[in-house]
Amino acid sequence: MAENCLFCNIVAGAIPCQKAAETERILAFHDIHPQAPTHLLVIHKTHTASLSETEDATLLGELMTGVREVASEKGLTDYRLIINNGPQAGQTVFHLHAHILAGRPLHWPPG
Ligand code: 5GP
Ligand code: ZN
Repeated sequence: MAENCLFCNIVAGAIPCQKAAETERILAFHDIHPQAPTHLLVIHKTHTASLSETEDATLLGELMTGVREVASEKGLTDYRLIINNGPQAGQTVFHLHAHILAGRPLHWPPG
C-alpha cells in the first residue's frame, strides 16, 4: 500500500466508499462525483500509479476481469470503460483505475 494514496486508503478502509463489488484482489466502488447514472471505479488492491507504470500482465488481467464481472453482476450490457493515463488525459488519482460509465447515452468522441 502507498501511504498517501487515496485509493490505497479506501482499500485499507481508512477512507469510506460505497462498495459495488469486492474480491480478494479487486475493489469496485461508486465514484464520488458520478458522471452518469452508473459511475463505478474498479481498482486492483495492489498499488500501481497508472497504466503506463506497470507491465504486470497478471494485475492487468485481474483488473479487466474485475471490470467485466462487476458489469455483469450489475446487469450492465452497454457501458463505457475509461482509463485516464497521465494528467493531460485527466488522471487525478494516481492509483490505476478503470471508470465504468453507464445508464445514459454516451457520445463519441469524448471531450
Ligand atoms: P481520474 O480523474 O484520476 O481518472 O479519476 C479519479 C476519480 O476519482 C474521479 O472521477 C473522482 O470523482 C473520484 N474520486 C476522487 N476522490 C474520491 C473519493 O474520495 N471517493 C470516491 N469514491 N471517488 C473519488
Ligand atoms: Zn494506491
